[in-house]
Amino acid sequence: MKVIVGLGSCGIAAGAQKVYKEIENQLKVYGSNSPVGSVGCIGMCYLEPIIEFLSDDGEKYTYTKVTPNIVAEIVEGILEGQPSQNHLINPAEWNKLRKQKRIALKNCGLIDPQNIHHYIDQNGYEAIKKCIGEMTPAEVIEEIKVSNIRGRGGAGFPTWFKWNAAMQSNEYPKYIVCNADEGDPGAFMDRSILEGDPHAIIEGMMIAAYAIGAQYGVVYVRAEYPLAIERLQKAILQAKELNLLGDHIFNSQFQFDIKVKAGAGAFVCGEETALIASLEGERGMPRLKPPFPAEKGLWQKPTNINNVETFANIPWIINQGGKAFADIGVNNSQGTKVFALTGKIRDGGLVEVPMGTSLQEIIFDIGGGILNDRDFKALQLGGPSGGCVPNALLDTIVDYESVTKTGAIMGSGGMVVMDDTTCMVDMAKFFLDFTCKESCGKCIHCRLGTKRMLEILTRITEGHGQTGDIELLEELGSGIKEGSLCGLGQTAPNPVLSTIKYFREEYEKHIIDKT
Ligand code: SF4
Repeated sequence: MKVIVGLGSCGIAAGAQKVYKEIENQLKVYGSNSPVGSVGCIGMCYLEPIIEFLSDDGEKYTYTKVTPNIVAEIVEGILEGQPSQNHLINPAEWNKLRKQKRIALKNCGLIDPQNIHHYIDQNGYEAIKKCIGEMTPAEVIEEIKVSNIRGRGGAGFPTWFKWNAAMQSNEYPKYIVCNADEGDPGAFMDRSILEGDPHAIIEGMMIAAYAIGAQYGVVYVRAEYPLAIERLQKAILQAKELNLLGDHIFNSQFQFDIKVKAGAGAFVCGEETALIASLEGERGMPRLKPPFPAEKGLWQKPTNINNVETFANIPWIINQGGKAFADIGVNNSQGTKVFALTGKIRDGGLVEVPMGTSLQEIIFDIGGGILNDRDFKALQLGGPSGGCVPNALLDTIVDYESVTKTGAIMGSGGMVVMDDTTCMVDMAKFFLDFTCKESCGKCIHCRLGTKRMLEILTRITEGHGQTGDIELLEELGSGIKEGSLCGLGQTAPNPVLSTIKYFREEYEKHIIDKT
């Protein structure tokens, strides 16, 4: 028998470490020397702590919301062949996983992220071997082009195009950067992948490095993700021990090394040129483009930057072929997308669905609907840079263009669900307050415009709104979008503008009610 405990950040926050210890204690009490292992988050954060017993004859018993005081009963039941029904998972929960398609998350919650051999057992590092052994860099890029994968960090730029631009350059050295500076409130996709399957990111970066001719890689992770950093560093060390990374020439042709850099938590450092400035020891402020990083990036050398989820898809694409990936999805959005479901959702956690799945299916069929059976009101999609999607647009499918038409953006995949008790003006103020504080201050539209908008929102929510305030917000919002240098400023007004578009009467009510 084998016991597995979910030890992602969500599991640990729910008390999984105490449960883990208690399982070890109880196994000792019963004289069992069954191993107790750990996995990352499987996505069902709402059921943590989750533990699984795998019997020698292949039976699997999954228990959810486990507390240390029920561990004895569970262990005794399993060892005596009469599994306790207490906290045994409701089989209907598995249906929520069956409605998903897992590529980026395929190993999360299934393998021990701290054991490279678990990854290797899942075909890990075969994709990079295939690239080096059977494909030229141009052929690798062609495969990525066929897949039509677009950057999962938010902008949706074609991945192959960036790789190709970096590959074309004859300047050396070249760099691969993994952007793991996930900063959206309510978003934890990248963190979970790093915690649950760090070798997939390493392999994705290796493939990109082979394709563009890079020798050095950096993962820029926010310092608030200590577990992700720890597991990533351990994974890098293990890959070095097996001569996959580091000074060794892997497969006699390819040499690549990766370092981890902990970012100091500035949201704007998710913007690629600000991230590069931060890596160079400068203040994290966006730079003018062009030149683009593919031409002059880190230390003015060709640099390819992709986010965590993008890299997590790459080994699958190489192993299964670009066409297999392109066959999933709709319109010009192929493959899957990972979303973090938070807010007033019943079953909060991570989901990965094929592009083309509707918001309705994600929230109600997979997410279980609204907490406490209240009515759905709106969805903030794409974090503070995104916008809100009202009930009437719930049949919108997730593809880059369809989401943009609603006034939101796909962003990196944060979904904050709101019920009928939520004040949309308060919600818009919350997100604008965030971007206002995170503005780097380089351009006046963003630095001062967001401040002025926040002042107006504050007076509206405090009962001092004036006639003309809504129009002023709209005017300022469109000016900030047009006059800002980087994505932060260009999208900062989105939560306000989209709530005015769909919930204007709430703004009006705030203003009228004060008199
Ligand atoms: Fe800085 Fe805002 Fe300008 Fe971006 S738009 S460079 S965050 S001031």
